[in-house]
Amino acid sequence: MASVRFENVTKKFGDFVAVANFNLEIKDKEFLVLLGPSGCGKTTTMRMVAGLEEPTSGDIYIDADRINDVLPKYRDVAMVFQSYALYPHLTVEDNIGYPLKIRKVPPDEYKRRIVEVARRVELDTMLKRLPKELSGGQRQRVALARAIVRTPRVFLMDEPLSNLDAKLRTQMRAELKHLQHELQVTTIYVTHDQIEAMTLAHRVAVMNRGVIEQLGTPREIYSDPRTLFVAGFIGSPAMNLVSGEVRGGVFARAGLRVGGAGRFDVRRAVLGARPEDIQVTSAEDPDVNLVAPIYSVELTGENTLVSLQLGGELITLRADKNFAGQIDQPVGVKIATDRMFLFDAETERRVY
Ligand code: ATP
Repeated sequence: MASVRFENVTKKFGDFVAVANFNLEIKDKEFLVLLGPSGCGKTTTMRMVAGLEEPTSGDIYIDADRINDVLPKYRDVAMVFQSYALYPHLTVEDNIGYPLKIRKVPPDEYKRRIVEVARRVELDTMLKRLPKELSGGQRQRVALARAIVRTPRVFLMDEPLSNLDAKLRTQMRAELKHLQHELQVTTIYVTHDQIEAMTLAHRVAVMNRGVIEQLGTPREIYSDPRTLFVAGFIGSPAMNLVSGEVRGGVFARAGLRVGGAGRFDVRRAVLGARPEDIQVTSAEDPDVNLVAPIYSVELTGENTLVSLQLGGELITLRADKNFAGQIDQPVGVKIATDRMFLFDAETERRVY
């Protein structure tokens, strides 16, 4: 059993507030992802749990134990760093086995556990190599193996997949997901990659400038974003965000008109629509929200991304893989009112 709790935790570096009055409880066995852009305070938050940074104020608990003053080695957490932090003079085997050695695990079990985790991360043929004889991806897998070779109370993972190539990354992501299911250890996972967050997390905390913008399941974060920031950060390609004005229940920007916006009274608004929720149709269709010439067409394999120019910006929609439109050809666009979002341009909060 291990839950992790932050109570009013603030971390300052000089006058700079990296983490501001942070409150969060990570439940026992939960896989919680801290997601946000570079510099938003994710790593600092995690390092405070590891004991590598000290909170300026506030308390951190693992279960009922306040750990602010507990030395890192007594916190029983295992951390995987983005930078691997391997011992250069030790072989793969000894790097992986290090946490067992300092806990004086008997030789038989030591050997058995190393072979088992090495197999899992596909390093079993490289046990005698030194880190400098490995690729970046292999080193990262050694770091991962070293963390999972024993079962700590909490796993802390800081972008553990960031240096892998696309194929290995997908493979290791699935492996991590499986491991979590098998090991059932509370995990805090830091990433700026929203696909990783969406696929791995039980819950995601989206961070921005040292605070949590939204906490929820991947589905909630995707389909019910509460702020402009969260809306723009989740989804690939990103949600279209179009600034405009609302008058008489109609949102307008350049040639775009979208009705059904009468239930709130903001003048300046940002309309949000995901590429998958915008439909492309004929320019002659009387029911469209916009008619514009095609700016670009990109076939991704499973579908086609079509961009159109709207008042100097591009909006992108996802069309069928057989979409046959050409650049400069005018097309009609329909935005499903029940799938769109509207944000107050001042507060950046969602109003519809
Ligand atoms: P990244 O994804 O780039 O690692 P992050 O969200 O993990 O970003 P942090 O590493 O937590 O961000 O850093 C948060 C902010 O605190 C950044 O603006 C960073 O420059 C600042 N910061 C972090 N460590 C220190 C330090 N030791 N001294 C001064 N400022 C720091």
